[in-house]
Amino acid sequence: MHIVLIDPSRVVQHKLAAELEATGCYVDCFSASDLALDYVERTPTVDVVLTSLELEPIPGLELCWKVRTLVGEKRPLHVIVMSSNTSERALAEALDCGADDFVVKPIRREELMARLRAANRMITLQRQLVEQAETDYLTGVLNRRAFMSTMETKRRELDASDPLSVCLLDIDRFKSINDTYGHDAGDAVISAVARLASEEAPIVARLGGEEFAIAFPVLEAAEAAHWCEVIRGAVARHAFNADTGIFHVSCSFGVSGWSADEPIEVALRRADRALMNAKQSGRNRVCIGAELTQA
Ligand code: GH3
Ligand code: MG
Ligand code: MG
Repeated sequence: MHIVLIDPSRVVQHKLAAELEATGCYVDCFSASDLALDYVERTPTVDVVLTSLELEPIPGLELCWKVRTLVGEKRPLHVIVMSSNTSERALAEALDCGADDFVVKPIRREELMARLRAANRMITLQRQLVEQAETDYLTGVLNRRAFMSTMETKRRELDASDPLSVCLLDIDRFKSINDTYGHDAGDAVISAVARLASEEAPIVARLGGEEFAIAFPVLEAAEAAHWCEVIRGAVARHAFNADTGIFHVSCSFGVSGWSADEPIEVALRRADRALMNAKQSGRNRVCIGAELTQA
């Protein structure tokens, strides 16, 4: 477990850090709460913030809620407050400010270890929940909601002038695959397409049924189309086994650039129109959204 320990006393820091490190924890110590907060923000591996309340320049309770708002709902982080004030009011105040737990100073090693074990259970559970909420159950790739939030994050991380391309992939004549080889074979096809796409593309999501969204940060639509062509070929070559023999499937692709000044929905609509072109012009092909190729 990666712990950030915040206490004004270096003696307390050394003593606690030594005890925690002896049990296999990785501990970073801070006296100044602003530096600690900055470190927690920049370091996603931090699991636990173990903090005193008597801190400067940011007081302990304020630090608790700042940590909470800073990390958001998705990042599992357990905040344990250490205080010599054992009143119910102090406890309630700490919990209301975003702390998850409370230990009384002077710290008793056994108690702290038990609370850290509880923290570990909570963090593991939260991590699993976040993963489940973002993952498509059949294929293990992102689901639609996770794709949208990943894309918003990516667009923010990139410069406005950096290209970013999106693609919609739809398996061709999938209904007849289901009808001919059965629903389980259909599911196996969906899983294989997800895997083959993930081997070439950094961001792959299943939007539903036999439809996927793929994204290529820092690639122009034409470059993204090249990688879609690689995926298209890999799927088309893949041999699927059914009881009645081997069969092949194909996919159609619609690609579009997503510029920083438009909502993702606009780029996806363009990609969808390109996908319709791919379907209408014979399937098993990659088409690029018209507006961007004219530019
Ligand atoms: P097109 O080439 O025009 O895309 O034709 P299509 O048959 O692929 O398109 P259509 O949208 O008519 O059919 C999609 C089928 O996908 C219908 C539905 O029964 C099936 N389907 C949707 N979700 C799943 C799933 O999770 N597993 C399986 N096996 N089939 C699914
Ligand atoms: Mg479809
Ligand atoms: Mg289809």
